[in-house]
Amino acid sequence: MKITEKIDVRFPRTLAEALRLQAGEQTRGKLLAGGTDLMVQWAAGVPAPERATSVWNLPELSAIEMAPDAIEIGAGVTHAFLRDCVQIRRHLPALVAAAATVGAAQIQSRGTLGGNAANASPAGDTAPALLVTGGSVVLASLSGRREVPLDRFWIDYRKIDARPDEIIVAFRLPPKGRAKERFRKIGTRRAQAISKVMAASRILVEKGRIVSAAIALGSVAPTPVRLAQVEAFLVGKKLSPKLIDEAEQLAQATVAPIADIRSSAEYRRWASGRLVRDALEHL
Ligand SMILES: Cc1cc2nc3c(=O)[nH]c(=O)nc-3n(C[C@H](O)[C@H](O)[C@H](O)COP(=O)(O)OP(=O)(O)OC[C@H]3O[C@@H](n4cnc5c(N)ncnc54)[C@H](O)[C@@H]3O)c2cc1C
Repeated sequence: MKITEKIDVRFPRTLAEALRLQAGEQTRGKLLAGGTDLMVQWAAGVPAPERATSVWNLPELSAIEMAPDAIEIGAGVTHAFLRDCVQIRRHLPALVAAAATVGAAQIQSRGTLGGNAANASPAGDTAPALLVTGGSVVLASLSGRREVPLDRFWIDYRKIDARPDEIIVAFRLPPKGRAKERFRKIGTRRAQAISKVMAASRILVEKGRIVSAAIALGSVAPTPVRLAQVEAFLVGKKLSPKLIDEAEQLAQATVAPIADIRSSAEYRRWASGRLVRDALEHL
């Protein structure tokens, strides 16, 4: 018998119905979006729940709204949609580049932005690109809506600031404006590879001087992280080869990655610096 045949999956047609089904829920992992994380986890032995609620194709989670101050991307939007959306590419190029590196075409067609964020893996490809926007996550429950800044959303390894009765509805992401964005992922292959290290950045340079800098890394800590020290070091300084050398060294000194099956701690530390260098040279 397939795992999914043992689970009573409910298919609400609206967000309101889904929220009613989630009301009083005590444990996370019972919301099923694309299933590309959950199905693998259940197959690998994580106990599957008796009941789950599907949020796949819920209209309220599938919308993209363009406002001048923020682009609101529904949590149910797939990586394939993001990858191919010209308007989002113009305003959030790092996120689009990140979506294009998730697994390969099949996974991108099924995996969602909300699922990637809620799965809370430090290697989730979209997290650093979301973080550098300075945006927020919109959560809904029967008690109402609340917004959590992305830099406070990932609390610890696999832990997010969301209650089990809450559904991620959308991500509110300020567009890059005149800043430049960059996303780089280092893995063993160009597709179907979980990252050893990855970086996203959003940096504004005017008249040769760095006006603002947001740099985030994945796979170097229990959560995706912003490099606050490196950012503060860069702002107000003139972009130069010396500054890039110093920022690379500071990034290497700032991160404290672990070793695991995908990489050594030393490589991750070295590559973190190289990715910061790459982001600055790209400017
Ligand atoms: C072969 C393969 C390759 C992969 N490669 C990559 C890769 O390169 N990079 C990468 O980052 N990931 C990769 N993944 C992981 C996965 O595809 C992504 O994380 C994907 O975005 C998960 O989205 P989903 O909709 O399938 O989530 P699901 O599996 O449906 O859910 C994942 C988690 O999010 C929760 N959830 C889902 N939607 C919501 C919501 N709206 N509100 C609250 N909680 C929610 C679920 O309850 C669950 O805990 C890969 C997976 C596979 C099988």
